[in-house]
Amino acid sequence: MFTRYFSTGRKVLLASILAGLIIALIAGGLQFMLLQQKREARFDILISDLHSYLVDYFDELRNSINSLQPLTLNTCEDVASELTSRAAFSLNVRAFLLVKEGNAFCSSATGSMDVPLTELVSQIDVNKDLDMAILPGTPMMPDKPAIALWIRSPLLDERGIFTTINVNLTPWLLYSARQNDFTGMALVVNHVALSTFSERLINPDELGQSPSRRARIEGLPMDIYLYAEKWPEENTNLTLLIGTMAGLIGGLLCFYIMTVRLRPGKEILTAIKRDQFYVVYQPVVDAQKMEIQGVEVLMRWKHPVAGEIPPDAFINFAEAQQLIVPLTHHLFRLIARDAPILQTLLPPGAKLGVNIAPSHLHADSFQQDMRQFSASLPDNYFQVVLEITERGMLHYQEASRLFEWLHDEGFEIAIDDFGTGHSSLIYLERYTFDYLKIDRGFVSAIGTETVTSPVLDAVLMLAKRLNMVMVAEGVETEEQANWLRSQGVQFLQGYWMSRPLPLQQLVEQHDAKAKYFTSS
Ligand code: C2E
Ligand code: CA
Ligand code: CA
Repeated sequence: MFTRYFSTGRKVLLASILAGLIIALIAGGLQFMLLQQKREARFDILISDLHSYLVDYFDELRNSINSLQPLTLNTCEDVASELTSRAAFSLNVRAFLLVKEGNAFCSSATGSMDVPLTELVSQIDVNKDLDMAILPGTPMMPDKPAIALWIRSPLLDERGIFTTINVNLTPWLLYSARQNDFTGMALVVNHVALSTFSERLINPDELGQSPSRRARIEGLPMDIYLYAEKWPEENTNLTLLIGTMAGLIGGLLCFYIMTVRLRPGKEILTAIKRDQFYVVYQPVVDAQKMEIQGVEVLMRWKHPVAGEIPPDAFINFAEAQQLIVPLTHHLFRLIARDAPILQTLLPPGAKLGVNIAPSHLHADSFQQDMRQFSASLPDNYFQVVLEITERGMLHYQEASRLFEWLHDEGFEIAIDDFGTGHSSLIYLERYTFDYLKIDRGFVSAIGTETVTSPVLDAVLMLAKRLNMVMVAEGVETEEQANWLRSQGVQFLQGYWMSRPLPLQQLVEQHDAKAKYFTSS
């Protein structure tokens, strides 16, 4: 019954699956972000390394070229050998050409010549201080693309140096082959690119993808483009794997915690600690005067997730888990806490009906518990009535002794739910009870087609013969109250007089001086 409220296998399973899914999403999302961040960082480093390498290279090259500018004042014969050796010692330089008045007149590779530069390289504008182009090849190496660089002499009129540079992208080809997300790079001048994508020159606009990083070499009309895959499949797989694993582990952990760690037994102890139990008091009134003579204390559990759990569910469960004793201790503490206020609402000698579970009755600590409870209440004010069901009287010897002890200690005993158990009326003769509580099942039958049940008749007759005081519970209508009164039932309890109320409401009801003859 208890398990209806929480910790049912299906609920736990559903909650665990939900938790697993949420954890999977979070872990997958984090993993995705982490991979993305790492990837971005890698590209940033790559482009900045490449950029600084090229800046350094061209700085050095421009210094060499500037030191060559004075050679343009000489004839080719005079400077050819120096030009050749300077080219040989300049990294990646294919050839230096000395240019005067637009004509290349000396080459480090072929010596003397006399060709207008525009004829050699139409893309270069000699009127500019600096110009650059990417060429598909040079006369000596027609199939090997090269970078062409024109630098006009800053001091000497109409003179300058034209340089062709070898570009070897093989290391980058190798690098991109080893990386899963880096696909290639390109050096771009005027929409012409030397790239790892083709041996020929291409227009990068025709690559069909835009570079994920770009950088400009300062002072040169040259850009570096880095290309990357949008989001590599490997990363997706990794993200999925991490998400799934985390979700599985998280889900299983939740399942474990909910089934093993938060076993309902523990929940009861936790609920005691967290003060989730509270008590309500249901007035018991004198059937003639309709004045309050006492209350029955009923326990309530307000569970933060499952809501209000009815006592039928948790009392049975606590009994099964051997937790009824700590639960009843807690009940006693709650009553003791309320007692000073109850004292202001109830007349001296008022009955305090407390339900005692059969297993507590036979627990070792029972007698001590009762003494402590009694001591925790105001002196000589309340009359504690223990409400015990037939189930608590199975062991005749023990029960007799216990009841005698209770009477000696000043407690009264009521037999609760009488007639609903399978045991017989024999208990009434065996034991001395102070009260007999007529179960609400019989009371609710009053006023239906058969006026009374034979069992109720027998109970009433016996109780009268044995001089027991009768309390009818579950009185919901005036008709029932009248009938019970006419049968000599001394006390009434039920919704018609009052529902079980928390202390605060009991106080309010008392302040309103309500008489218990209308339903509230
Ligand atoms: P019970 O001892 O027979 O308590 C009377 C029950 O009848 C209460 O239900 C009360 O709310 C309900 N009741 C009172 N008047 C009427 C009425 O006019 N009409 C209807 N339909 N019901 C009425 P509740 O509070 O749900 O308690 C159910 C049972 O749980 C109790 O039955 C008792 O056996 C057990 N219980 C409750 N509190 C405790 C406790 O502190 N300790 C132990 N051991 N058992 C408790
Ligand atoms: Ca009761
Ligand atoms: Ca009852």
